[in-house]
Amino acid sequence: MDFEYRYTAEQQAFRQEVRSWLDDNIPTGVRWPNDAKNMPHETWQWVKTFREQLGAKGWLHATYPKEYGGGGLSAEHDVVIQEELEKQDIPIDGLKFHDNQNDLPALMVWGTDEQKENFLVSRLRGEKIAWQLFTEPGAGSDLASLKTRAVKDGDDWVITGEKVFVGGDSGYADPDTKTPDELQMGYLFCLAITDPNAPRHRNMGYFYIPGETPGITAQTLDLLVGHGKRQIYLDNVRVSSDNVIGGETQGWQVTQTTLEIEHGGGGGATQRERTLSKVINHLRENEGVHDDHLKQILMDAYIDTEQVRLFGMRNYWMYDTKQEMTYHGSQFALLRKESALRVADAIREVCNLSSLLDFRDGKVAIEGEMELHQRETLAAAHPGGTIEVQKVIVARRLGVSRTKERAAPTPATMVASSDA
Ligand SMILES: Cc1cc2nc3c(=O)[nH]c(=O)nc-3n(C[C@H](O)[C@H](O)[C@H](O)COP(=O)(O)OP(=O)(O)OC[C@H]3O[C@@H](n4cnc5c(N)ncnc54)[C@H](O)[C@@H]3O)c2cc1C
Repeated sequence: MDFEYRYTAEQQAFRQEVRSWLDDNIPTGVRWPNDAKNMPHETWQWVKTFREQLGAKGWLHATYPKEYGGGGLSAEHDVVIQEELEKQDIPIDGLKFHDNQNDLPALMVWGTDEQKENFLVSRLRGEKIAWQLFTEPGAGSDLASLKTRAVKDGDDWVITGEKVFVGGDSGYADPDTKTPDELQMGYLFCLAITDPNAPRHRNMGYFYIPGETPGITAQTLDLLVGHGKRQIYLDNVRVSSDNVIGGETQGWQVTQTTLEIEHGGGGGATQRERTLSKVINHLRENEGVHDDHLKQILMDAYIDTEQVRLFGMRNYWMYDTKQEMTYHGSQFALLRKESALRVADAIREVCNLSSLLDFRDGKVAIEGEMELHQRETLAAAHPGGTIEVQKVIVARRLGVSRTKERAAPTPATMVASSDA
């Protein structure tokens, strides 16, 4: 069966426009290393500028409304942009450059016009970044147990607490950039208890903290996936009550919109598995695979990744056509995380010990991508809800758990309900 989308003539003309703009604006010699923590400082600097250029054209967040700094374009146009970036070997995730974007849908749904103006526009234009301050040493999967406290003082809130695993997506980090500079590039969106006497889930606020606010310190965490994550300490950090999204005890509800997207509710249109394709090409171009059993393993792994891609496309389509989702986001996240682990197993079985050589080894193939993939797939089982948590959510939404729940509102369903 052929599931591929057929583009219209207008969309193909747009593709030409994107392609020639990218050709003109991506300098020759810009190379994206497998492990972004090995990226040269000049490349990071270029990424920052390039991201702003894309943002100014409305191509960084193509489907967001123009009035907020997006492109006002269709999902198909967005896919074209992402495909063309992929062809240039510039991963769209990498362009986020530390920017955790899980808050953007929550701002659209819950933010006032003034908050959208203050916090959304600069993000969609690629001028600022944000970090997600949810997880704490004692609150990960059970996020509602968090302890960070916000105390009202006049018109302000004063926040004190400790957050872990904080930073942009995928652990990307500029090794030469000092943490305070990064913080000054944007905001921290942070959950904190505002009313310790209120019931669980009705006791916290969702705050935007400007990165340069006094009282914030950061410490780099040395993780399996590199150095992109931080431990953040908040010591009497003062923010205006204008920076609370939703009501001051409505933070849990706002967070559900963020988690809905983080758990896969927005889908993904161009999520081809990069490592497996590189491994297959490498094997084809070199010694090949002569054992039928190993060929079968590779074929199964390829089919596995294609299935995940199609589930991502399904969610992307459902989101774009404003259909109500239930288990779909977490089903996609679960399949994606489990499939990644299976693919890592398959690569290890086919390529054996060479899959464990890192980029510094003289005999390494495809610049150490296989070894990095082994580590990243393990770590990727955790962020945005672990494998077990995705199963719990699917069960609740299918109605086969003691607790039943519905999907949180997203910009897609919010528009759908007001249209109705
Ligand atoms: C690479 C990476 C990036 C991250 N980025 C961010 C970030 O930017 N911002 C942020 O706030 N957080 C971030 N996180 C944190 C992430 O959200 C948490 O790691 C995740 O929620 C799990 O929490 P935990 O690590 O405390 O594990 P725990 O919640 O302690 O879980 C430990 C184990 O117990 C299992 N478990 C827990 N509860 C249940 C249950 N009810 N049923 C069955 N099994 C259960 C889990 O599946 C897991 O295997 C990141 C994590 C990683 C690894």
